[in-house]
Amino acid sequence: MKREFNVTSGTTLRCKGWRQEALLRLLENVLAVGEDPAQLIVYAALGRAARDWPSHDAIVHALKTMAEDQTLVVQSGKPIGLLRTHSRAPLVIMANCNMIGQWAKAENFYDLEQKNLICWGGLTAGDWQYIGSQGVIQGTYEIFSRIAERHFDNDLRGRFILTAGLGGMGGAQPLAGRMAGAAILTIEVDQERIDKRMKIGFLEKQAHDLDEALEMIRDAQEKREPLSVGLLGNAAEMYPEILARGVVPDIVTDQTAAHDLVYGYVPVGHTLDQVRALRTTDIPALMNASRASIVQHVSAMLGFKDRGAIVFDNGNLIRTHAKEGGVERAFEIPIFTEAFLRPLFCRAIGPFRWIALSNDADDIRKIDDYLLEHFANNAIVVNWIKLARQYVPFEGLPARIAWLGHGERTELALAVNRMVREGLLSGPVAFTRDHLDAGAMAHPNIMTENMRDGSDAIADWPLLNAMVNCSSMADLVAIHSGGGGYSGYMTSAGVTVVADGTVEADERLQLSMTNDTSMGVMRYADAGYPEALDEAERKSLPYIRI
Ligand code: NAD
Repeated sequence: MKREFNVTSGTTLRCKGWRQEALLRLLENVLAVGEDPAQLIVYAALGRAARDWPSHDAIVHALKTMAEDQTLVVQSGKPIGLLRTHSRAPLVIMANCNMIGQWAKAENFYDLEQKNLICWGGLTAGDWQYIGSQGVIQGTYEIFSRIAERHFDNDLRGRFILTAGLGGMGGAQPLAGRMAGAAILTIEVDQERIDKRMKIGFLEKQAHDLDEALEMIRDAQEKREPLSVGLLGNAAEMYPEILARGVVPDIVTDQTAAHDLVYGYVPVGHTLDQVRALRTTDIPALMNASRASIVQHVSAMLGFKDRGAIVFDNGNLIRTHAKEGGVERAFEIPIFTEAFLRPLFCRAIGPFRWIALSNDADDIRKIDDYLLEHFANNAIVVNWIKLARQYVPFEGLPARIAWLGHGERTELALAVNRMVREGLLSGPVAFTRDHLDAGAMAHPNIMTENMRDGSDAIADWPLLNAMVNCSSMADLVAIHSGGGGYSGYMTSAGVTVVADGTVEADERLQLSMTNDTSMGVMRYADAGYPEALDEAERKSLPYIRI
C-alpha cells in the first residue's frame, strides 16, 4: 500500500474526543516531518514512530475508536491492550526500549530489533512529540548565545562555527548559528539531507568544495554578516583537512548521528550504499570502521581546541566512541549541558513546546503575542519569540518552542486553554516538553554528566517523573531507554497534555505542568545545586530538604 504522509487540518474529529484526535494528529505529524517516514523513522538514525506498519495501523485504529475512559498501552511502538481506566487517566502510556542493565548493549538491541521485539522511539519520535528541526533549535541557539556571552563579548558576528550533520536534529544548526549572527559551516555526507534543509529554509547555501566553503565563510566573517553554508563531505575527513590548513574556527561541535555506529554514523571511505549493505552483512566491521573515523573526527576537534577554539559535544556520544577507540583526551571536550545549560535546568527552564492541532499558523502567532505581552520581563523568551517569528519556518503542524520554567509553563498552558475555550484560537493546542528537560532524563554522557553529587547514572528521576505525570492526569506519558548506539546510556520520560478548552483540561494542565517542572527543580535541588535550592525556596515548592 502506498502511504501518504500529511497532517490533518481543521476541527472535524475522526475520534471520539479531541484528546484522542490530538494524539492521532501528533502521530501523523511526526511522520509528515520525519526523515524516512516510509520506514517509520523520524530522526536520530533509528528513532521510530511505531514498531512496524501493522502496529502503527493498530494504534491509529485504537485512537479512533477508544473512549475517554480507556488507556492504550504501548510497548516499544506496538499496542498491546486497551484497558478500561477512567476519564482522568492518561489516554496512552508507553514504555519504549527499556532493556535490563547487563543486556542493554547496541548489539543486543540490533538482535532484538531484527526479531521485531523492540524498537527505539528516539526521544520524541516514539511518543509522537517531534516537531521537526525546530524542536532543538532554541537549545542550539541558547548554547551559541551562552558561548557568545562567555567568550565573545556577547556577539557572534564575524565568528566562524564549524559543525557537521544536517539530519532531523542537526538540521537546526545552520539556522541557529545564523540567528546568533555567526558564519556557520556544516559538513554533511548525504546530499538529500542538504537538499531537505535548503528546501525548508534551515540552510542558505551549499558550497561546491572546501575551498569555496572556507572562502564564503571568510567573506561573511569580514563583512560580519550571518551566513549558513553546507558542504557535502565526511566530517572525519573535512575536520582534519581544515585543521591541516591552519584554519581555526571560533566554535567547533558536531551533530552527526555518531551515537549509532551502525545506523547513524557514516565512516570515511564508504558510500551510503556500502554502509546500507554492511548493515545486513557485517555489523562488527561497520562498527569498527565508524569508530576508527570517529577517532579521526574527535582528534581533529581536540586539535582545534588546542589552538584556541571553543569546542563542545552536542549530545551525540561522539566522545564516548572516540575514547573507546583510544582517544584518551576525548572527555577534555565538555558536554553542552554541563558547560552551558545546567543553570537553566536547575530552575526547570528547558525546551517546552506547543503545537496548533488545527494546522492554523495564526494560532501560534496569537500565542506568540500572548507571550510577548505577558512575559515581557523574560528577556530569553522575548528575544527568542521575536527571532523565531522572523526566522523559523513551520514544518508540519505549526508549532513553537520556548525555554520556559517552573510556573511559566503552567501559566501559558492555562492561558492557551482559555483562548481555546473562548474561541480565540482555531482549535485545541497540544503541549509537550522535550525529554532533554530538567527532571526527565538520566544520561551520564549528556544530561547528567558530572552531577554535583555524583548521581549521573541514577535512572530513578525520569521514572519518578513519568509516574508523577500519570498521577497528574497527563494525556500521554512515556518512559524510554536508549536504543541502537544509545543502548545502556540513557533513560528518559516524555509527556503530552492537550489544551482542548475544557475545564477538565484546566486541571490536567495545571497539575501536569506544575508537577513536571517541580520534579525538575527538586532533582537538581537534591543534587545540591544552589540555583535549584533557591528556585525551590523562591517559588515555595513542596521540596523536602533533609
Ligand atoms: P539523523 O540521523 O537524522 O541525522 C544525522 C546526520 O548525520 C545524517 O544526515 C547523516 O548523513 C549525517 N552523518 C553521519 N555521519 C556523518 C559523517 N561522518 N560526516 C558528515 N555527516 C554525517 O540524526 P539527528 O536527529 O540529526 O541527531 C543527530 C545527533 O544529535 C544524534 O546523535 C542525536 O541523538 C543527537 N541529538 C542531540 C540533541 C541535543 O539536544 N543536543 C537532541 C537530539 C538529538
